Amino acid sequence: MNNNLKIYNTLSRKKEDFKPITNNHVGMYVCGPTVYGDPHLGHARPAIIFDIIFRYFKHNKYKVRYVRNITDVGHLENDSDDGIDKIEKKAQSEKLEPMEVAQFYTEKYHDCLRKLNCLPPSIEPRASGHIIEQIEMIQKIISNGFGYVVNGSVYMDVIKYNQQYNYGVLSGRKIENNISNTRELNSQSEKKHPADFALWKKASNRHIMKWNSPWSHGFPGWHIECSAMSKKYLGNHFDIHGGGLDLIFPHHEAEICQSFAADLCPPANYWLHNNLITIEGQKMGKSLNNFINLDEFFTGKHKKLKSAFSPMTIRFFILQAHYRSTIDFSNEALKAAEKGLVKLMDASKTIEKLNASKKSTYDIDKLESDCYSAINDDFNTPVLIAHLFEGVRVINLIKDQKEHLTTKDLNKLKLLFNSFVVDILGLIDERVNNRSDLTNDLIDLTLTLRNRAKKNKDYNTSDQIRDKLEELNIQIKDEREGTTWKFKK
Ligand code: ZN
Repeated sequence: MNNNLKIYNTLSRKKEDFKPITNNHVGMYVCGPTVYGDPHLGHARPAIIFDIIFRYFKHNKYKVRYVRNITDVGHLENDSDDGIDKIEKKAQSEKLEPMEVAQFYTEKYHDCLRKLNCLPPSIEPRASGHIIEQIEMIQKIISNGFGYVVNGSVYMDVIKYNQQYNYGVLSGRKIENNISNTRELNSQSEKKHPADFALWKKASNRHIMKWNSPWSHGFPGWHIECSAMSKKYLGNHFDIHGGGLDLIFPHHEAEICQSFAADLCPPANYWLHNNLITIEGQKMGKSLNNFINLDEFFTGKHKKLKSAFSPMTIRFFILQAHYRSTIDFSNEALKAAEKGLVKLMDASKTIEKLNASKKSTYDIDKLESDCYSAINDDFNTPVLIAHLFEGVRVINLIKDQKEHLTTKDLNKLKLLFNSFVVDILGLIDERVNNRSDLTNDLIDLTLTLRNRAKKNKDYNTSDQIRDKLEELNIQIKDEREGTTWKFKK
């Protein structure tokens, strides 16, 4: 039932049938954050979208290896080949070691993603931990004739590459157009052509993060880390490569170029890109004063926010748009998402209490196939959510005895909600996760087990449970209507 997955491939600009390279296995690489600042919506969106994709493959019983990197070296200001390393700049301004900066923001990133209920990837490699692999890949590129060394730095010979392959295959850009878009100054003089990009850079004296290499004491270019790490953990040729739309050029274009230049094959079959986020119609940026980080959303502490918005509200809001569309954040839109999420969570609870009937008056199989068609259509979560709300409508009608389901159909509906809401969309009821609710539920469960023991005349067990609860300051009272409990004062 789930073999009809179609994925929009940026390479072909078409939806294509998904066919894994190895049956029942999926290898997926997603570009992770450059860890020099607080995680924000621009980090949350790809993390959530590729989490859904990861979860959906797992739901379909694929063995998935999901690799998402941490960039802790080599990403220079303005995404250029000159200027200061983003992490080093932060370290200098805060008088910290660059690795302290990287560690601090990596942990913040993990913390936010945990709150957003994103599953951790299978492997999360760091660029600084894979310098040897990057050097080896650059050596291969040089020996294949596509890289050249100038003053201890190594550059990709894009013109030579383009005679054999297609530089621009992903972005659709022509080399001539790239020239006017390059913002680089210093290394232009070292490059044979302005479109060439750095594979290895010789470090200046004041540069902190540098390593020995055959060419100089230096550091890797930004693009080579993803090529080297994806190759190491997924092989030269794997299924899916993903990231934000802003990475198509130059980052992903450069990755394709590096893989062909080193291993003479394309890195990935499918390239997936999530669209970007705007805030009240504007691009998000520090200078526009609309830069809200995730913690500020969760606590409501930002002057643009009218209230706090929980991680699940943010997650649900992001999923209400298709990943290839832009999303615009506003207080009103988030409020609406919050309400929708409550309805969905309430229905998920109600479903457990519904009574079965002798006959079904509603076609659950159709609802199920609608849900699968939506997610199989390039992970169309907004359409999927619309179908789940049809499910919510039906659940409420069954509760009011206006629709009926047999036990078998009711179980199908429960399974459907559990699969799509919890397992695939990763939405959890934050109200249930509240500790006091959990405590109450656990005490109720303990009492049920005690009363069962009592009924079976296992007085040893039932007395032991009562005494143990007493010790925990929980007093129980057996009455005709049942057992009640309260905390002792
Ligand atoms: Zn990358």
